[in-house]
Amino acid sequence: MGVIHTCPTLYFFTFEEVARLAEYVSRMPRHVSEELRGWRWSEPPLLHTSAVYLSFSDVSYGVCPTGRDVYLRRVARVKSQVLPPEVEVGYVVHAAYSAAVASAKMLALAGVATGQDFIDSMRARFEEFIHGLYASQRWGLTREEVFKTAWPVWDHASVIFGGALERGRAKRLSGDSLAAYVAPFHVEYPVEGYRLGLTQGYVDALLPPAVPVEIKVGAAAHWHRVELAAYALALEATLHTPVDFGVLVYVQPEPFHYYYAVVPIGDSLRLEFAEARDRKARLVESGVDPGAPEKCSKQCPYYHYCEVAGAGRLGGAAVLPQRRLRLGEKGREGGGGAASGGLHSGGGAGGGSERQGPGQGG
Ligand code: SF4
Repeated sequence: MGVIHTCPTLYFFTFEEVARLAEYVSRMPRHVSEELRGWRWSEPPLLHTSAVYLSFSDVSYGVCPTGRDVYLRRVARVKSQVLPPEVEVGYVVHAAYSAAVASAKMLALAGVATGQDFIDSMRARFEEFIHGLYASQRWGLTREEVFKTAWPVWDHASVIFGGALERGRAKRLSGDSLAAYVAPFHVEYPVEGYRLGLTQGYVDALLPPAVPVEIKVGAAAHWHRVELAAYALALEATLHTPVDFGVLVYVQPEPFHYYYAVVPIGDSLRLEFAEARDRKARLVESGVDPGAPEKCSKQCPYYHYCEVAGAGRLGGAAVLPQRRLRLGEKGREGGGGAASGGLHSGGGAGGGSERQGPGQGG
């Protein structure tokens, strides 16, 4: 288990925070078996032998114990029409986070003079952001609810990055150096998954040198760690550098606060990923509906479909004709899947990091 921390700043990852985190993990014990490094993807146990390529969230998402969500998305091609509010809230948090970081980098590059000017400019940009966000989708949430969820994230980013900009100015930094000092990380970093049997994903943030960060809304769950391991393995396979730790940031929108866990990506999480990947790939290959568990979470993106609309909890024989599976399905997550409506599903109910519709449930 990772260590749980509450932290006033480790969410927006200024230069000082990244350095502090690096020092912290340098003291943590680590052991990863060589055969479980991502760069050993071409040999068991990481070897992917199926023709089915799943998304990062398909593999790790743990809200449906039977994996019926994967069946509905990948085989039956069901698009979840009515999303739980938690999924939408998660999406808003992610969207606000990404846009706030991007705005902060732009303002730092543009040469904003003072921390206060920076904060004022960030706040001025919020209106445009929230208008675009609300216009981008049909929401179950009201405009006010979207606003109330996004604003604390945005405003907090303004203050944290504004302080960093002030410190960077004091060090006589400017241009790209200043932007790198204010926000020395990437959001929605693309992660190639094909070597490990996955489609392309997008980790919420990547800190230097190679620390994946996932942002989740709501309660902590074990599958968040498995998802982090999937990103770590895929990064290792691509970058050929060890990724021994990741960070999970848990955001509670109301009242707004957050905490984080530093997660060692050890052997057991790596093996859990490989087992889940193989099991869910077999499920899709079989084309058979695994049926519903005894009890379904209301946070599942398919809750309305399975439980409320009475679309069947039976499982067993496939209800729909099996579709031809595309080999090596790639592209943006959810492409061809159930819910490619454009939302990046949020952490709470859906968690997840693929740029996809919230119904993806990742
Ligand atoms: S509603 Fe239940 S059966 Fe349907 S996908 Fe979700 S957890 Fe699985």
